[in-house]
Amino acid sequence: MNFFETGLSHLNAAAKKIALDPYEVERLSYPERIIEVVIPVTHDDGSARLYHGYRIQHSSLLGPYKGGIRFHPKVDKDEVKALAFAMTIKTATAGIPFGGGKGGVIVDPKLLSDRELERLSRGYVRALYECLGPLKDVPAPDVNTNSRIMYWMADEYERILGFPAPAVVTGKPIEHGGSLGREPATGEGGFYILQEFLAQEKRDPKTIKIAVQGMGNVGSYFVRSAQRAGCRVIAVSDSKGGVFNREGLDISGILRAKEEEKSLVDFTGGKRITNDELLALDADVLVPAALEDAINDGNAGAIRAKVILELANGPLTGNADAMLSEKGVTIIPDVLANAGGVVVSYFEWLQNQNKERWSEEAVLAQLKSVMIKAFAEVHKVSNNMKVPLRIGAYIVALRRLSKAVQRRG
Ligand code: GLU
Repeated sequence: MNFFETGLSHLNAAAKKIALDPYEVERLSYPERIIEVVIPVTHDDGSARLYHGYRIQHSSLLGPYKGGIRFHPKVDKDEVKALAFAMTIKTATAGIPFGGGKGGVIVDPKLLSDRELERLSRGYVRALYECLGPLKDVPAPDVNTNSRIMYWMADEYERILGFPAPAVVTGKPIEHGGSLGREPATGEGGFYILQEFLAQEKRDPKTIKIAVQGMGNVGSYFVRSAQRAGCRVIAVSDSKGGVFNREGLDISGILRAKEEEKSLVDFTGGKRITNDELLALDADVLVPAALEDAINDGNAGAIRAKVILELANGPLTGNADAMLSEKGVTIIPDVLANAGGVVVSYFEWLQNQNKERWSEEAVLAQLKSVMIKAFAEVHKVSNNMKVPLRIGAYIVALRRLSKAVQRRG
């Protein structure tokens, strides 16, 4: 099963539980639109190159398409399709008025200068602008994209249109219409979900050992929140490898090293480990926060943690998910655990549309209440119907999507 097929298998499992009309399942099994673009970029040395990218608009049943854009050499159509589908389920699980979409460009942004990156980001919007808009499709950051790139994209869109439309993109810098709290939102939101889960299980966060794979935006804000609540973060890693300390890592030191763009393998506050060693640690909670398929046939058998909090999108392959669920591991699914980013994107969109500015406290308080509500709904369905949390989340989402199909016919 590839990434998209894995999503469809979860969809089918959930649909079966609630006897969803096969037409509704079929409707969600295909994206509404697949857009493929070629972006010409002039490099600083005067040479020109073509970059290939996608925007896949999966569903607009509940509102404008919503979802990030990633810049990565391994982007492909199937991956973007799977991620767009996941956004439809995620926004519906969180109960926010958006559909699902995703974009990607095949590029290693580390090989581009700032100016080249800007030309690529603006070129992506020029190639796509007719399909974007605050009420049509609203991109946001994802892997290797950030607020600066979002600014270039929003600015390019507004230049083409000739008037301001800041709500066309979320995750912008604060001074250009971004929302306070958007940067920590995914990591922080993931921690709210873990807190709710631990409270249900009557477990004290201070007794919890956590291992986190991936120290990008999501992983770094998550460890910050986890440490603040007294959890013991025993291992973290980046793409080159990681560091482990049974007594708990010095998180401020780790975050400083990341800010200085140093790899964690050179961090001296613990023992060096590989990414596979991190996954196999005796942690209470394992947090994959990097890329899809990180936990797969090759390493799932070695996992010892009893709880997996999916902060990446699709970090478990279908097989790994089935095998670990069978073993009794609780998997808190991506569509719930990492929804904090898109929830605060919704708040940013609202602020832009209504010309408002919310304080960081207001944003985080609203985020917390949306995440707690989503967790409670998913947990209840999962308990009542005796299904894993992932299927519970899909059921919550499908009930909302199904009402929309019935309304629209
Ligand atoms: N890229 C993030 C995600 O996968 C955020 C999407 C958004 O804010 O629209 O959920």
